[in-house]
Amino acid sequence: MTFDAMAVYTELRTHFRERVRLNEPLARHCTFGVGGPADVWITLDSRDELMSLVRLCAERHWPLLLVGNGTNTLYADAGMRGIVARIALNNYSIEEQEDGTVLLLAEAGVSWPRLLNELAPQGWGGLEFGPGIPGTLGGGVISNAGAHNGDMAQVLEWIEVLDARSSSEEQYSVPIVRRYQHDELDLSYRHSRFRELRRVQFDAQGYPEVAPRQLIEPAEIIMRLGIRLHREEPQKLRELIEQYKQHRKRTQPPQQSAGSVFKNPPGDYAGRLIEQVGMKGMVHGKAKISERHANFIVNLGSASATDVVALIKEARNRVHEKFGVDLELEVELRGEWGKSGDSAAQSEAQ
Ligand SMILES: Cc1cc2nc3c(=O)[nH]c(=O)nc-3n(C[C@H](O)[C@H](O)[C@H](O)COP(=O)(O)OP(=O)(O)OC[C@H]3O[C@@H](n4cnc5c(N)ncnc54)[C@H](O)[C@@H]3O)c2cc1C
Repeated sequence: MTFDAMAVYTELRTHFRERVRLNEPLARHCTFGVGGPADVWITLDSRDELMSLVRLCAERHWPLLLVGNGTNTLYADAGMRGIVARIALNNYSIEEQEDGTVLLLAEAGVSWPRLLNELAPQGWGGLEFGPGIPGTLGGGVISNAGAHNGDMAQVLEWIEVLDARSSSEEQYSVPIVRRYQHDELDLSYRHSRFRELRRVQFDAQGYPEVAPRQLIEPAEIIMRLGIRLHREEPQKLRELIEQYKQHRKRTQPPQQSAGSVFKNPPGDYAGRLIEQVGMKGMVHGKAKISERHANFIVNLGSASATDVVALIKEARNRVHEKFGVDLELEVELRGEWGKSGDSAAQSEAQ
């Protein structure tokens, strides 16, 4: 594959203007605050832009990664070759259905906290479990985001995706729009059908091994969601949201992070296990296992992805040794990861 970043940048700039950038540090676009440059970075504001870009990349064989708010993503220090595009499609409407139920029709880039701030005062309930989930609704489907005994699966009716699975470096076919109903999404605890393909494996030493990327990644891009809402007292919603926010303030660290690093294993908590193997407060480079919540790795200021991966590896290995539990990653690894978790093999966590 040849990708001439400067030529692609120049071509895209005629349409996207200042929304396209060359060698953009990914650390600016994720809550971990780590990650090297994307060759080309674009912010997509509309469905038409998204569809044209995917079509163009498929035709020209330009590698493309689509992301949301970067709140569940760890980018590699080496950054990402090709184009990284943020889905910032931001419109939504509320529609009463013929059977009397109410649907929120939202574009995938709508951000959860903004939505709650607008829905709660109008007395629309359904998503109030998520005031502390800083991502987009689209990203929320991928991991079936949830908190406080609620999750996306409880309210999601359907999604609309742009399906580019038949395009590869060897062949082009026109991406198609398709709709998946709730039952086709395989939603369960932090899981959806979309996560199956990119499940991270770990090598013999415990470093993450990222699945090979596709030309258009992910190949099914969520564009729109239908979410069931219900009527609720605005005051009750406000109180619940405030209660959840306060709970987070008490239990989660204030520094930069990507939320929980590992999924909770069945019947237990990843944070409890990591604490039990003596890693609370452990530092590697400028990354640290939070003292407030051991399933959070925080950036102390200038952490690298390698620092974060060193802690991931150490926590997984220690938990496996002591409890026989294989922790599974909740955060997604994106970018150019070498063997042994970037260059993490060179320096071990202390
Ligand atoms: C402080 C903090 C607290 C958090 N608390 C919670 C919590 O309580 N519960 C919880 O579930 N999560 C939590 N998270 C994690 C995160 O906010 C969620 O996983 C969120 O849903 C991710 O959305 P995003 O837009 O940031 O996704 P990103 O991180 O941008 O992307 C995640 C993955 O989804 C893919 N993706 C994104 N958008 C689309 C799309 N439209 N179509 C196809 N693929 C897409 C990306 O390629 C990437 O692989 C927390 C994170 C932080 C930083």
